[in-house]
Amino acid sequence: MPHHRPVDAMAYPRFEGIRTFMRLPHLAEVERLREADLAIVGVPFDTGATYRVGARFGPAGIRNESMLLRPYHPELAVDVHAELSLVDHGDLPVTPGYLPESHAQIAEAAAGVLATGVTPLFLGGDHSVSLPLLRAVAARHGPVALVHVDAHADLWPGYYGGKDTHGTPFRRALEEGLIDPERSVQIGLRGPVYDADDVEVSERLGLASLSADALHRRGVDAAVELVRKRAGGPGPRYLSFDIDALDPVYAPGTGTPEVGGLTSVQALRLLRGLAGLDFVGFDLVEVMPAYDVGAVTQLLAANLAYEMIALAAVAKRGPA
Ligand code: MN
Ligand code: MN
Repeated sequence: MPHHRPVDAMAYPRFEGIRTFMRLPHLAEVERLREADLAIVGVPFDTGATYRVGARFGPAGIRNESMLLRPYHPELAVDVHAELSLVDHGDLPVTPGYLPESHAQIAEAAAGVLATGVTPLFLGGDHSVSLPLLRAVAARHGPVALVHVDAHADLWPGYYGGKDTHGTPFRRALEEGLIDPERSVQIGLRGPVYDADDVEVSERLGLASLSADALHRRGVDAAVELVRKRAGGPGPRYLSFDIDALDPVYAPGTGTPEVGGLTSVQALRLLRGLAGLDFVGFDLVEVMPAYDVGAVTQLLAANLAYEMIALAAVAKRGPA
C-alpha cells in the first residue's frame, strides 16, 4: 500500500504546482482512499447560508493558503506525514441553489468516502453541510459526541420557514439521533441573539456549552477540560469547527461574523488540548474568501485543518 505524502518541497518550491491541500496527491477515485489514513474532502456548497454567501469558494481558498504547511508539529511533537498517509480527494458533488438535492448528494458521497475506512476532514461550505455529513458519519459509526466550535449554536428549529439552513444543522441532527447530546459540547457561543431561550437552548437540549465570554474569563484550559469531560469517554467523536468562532479580526472572511471571539492562539491551543482523542471525522466550515482580507482567514483555516491532521496523527501513534 503506498504511503501518500506531499510533493518534496526541497525539490519543488512551495508556490509551484496545481493546488491540492498541502500539495498532497489528488486521489479522485473513492476506492483509492483505502490507501490513506486521512483525506481532505471539499464540500463547496453555500445555499444554506442566510446572510453573506460565498463559502462555496472556501475549499479552494483553504487549499490555496495551505502550501506553506510543513510536516513537523513542534508543540505536539509529531511528524504528520510520518504517521499518516494523507491525500486530497477533491470536492463532493453538489447542485448549487438546490439544498435538499445537494444534501442528498453530499450524504451519499460522504458515505462512500467513509466506507473506505479513511478519516475525512471536510472543508465547507456553509454549516448546513454538517447535517448530511453527520448523517453519513452516524450511519457508519452510530451517534457521535459532537465537539462544536462556533459563535452560534446552530440549533434553531427553522429559519424563514425553512428547516435546513446553516443555523439549523444540529437541531436536525439531534432530532435524527445523529449526535449524543450528553456527550456533546459547544465552545465559543456569543453575540446578540433573539431572546433568552437562544442562550439556554444548548443546555435545554442536553448539550454543554462554554461561551466565548466564559472562555475569555476562565481561559482555554477550561474549554479543553469541558470538552474532555463531555466527549473524552468511549464512543465515536466528531469535530465541527465554524471559522466564525474566531474573532473577525482574525477571521473576517466568513458569513456571519460576531465580535468578541477567539484569537488564533486560543483556537490553536484549544485544538492542541484535545491531543490523544480520536475523532472519526472533522469539518471546517464557513470560510468565505470574497470577504477575506489579505487571505488571513484562509491561512488560519489551513492551519486549523493542519491542527486537526495533527490530532489524527497523535491519535494514530497512540500513547507515548
Ligand atoms: Mn455554524
Ligand atoms: Mn457560526
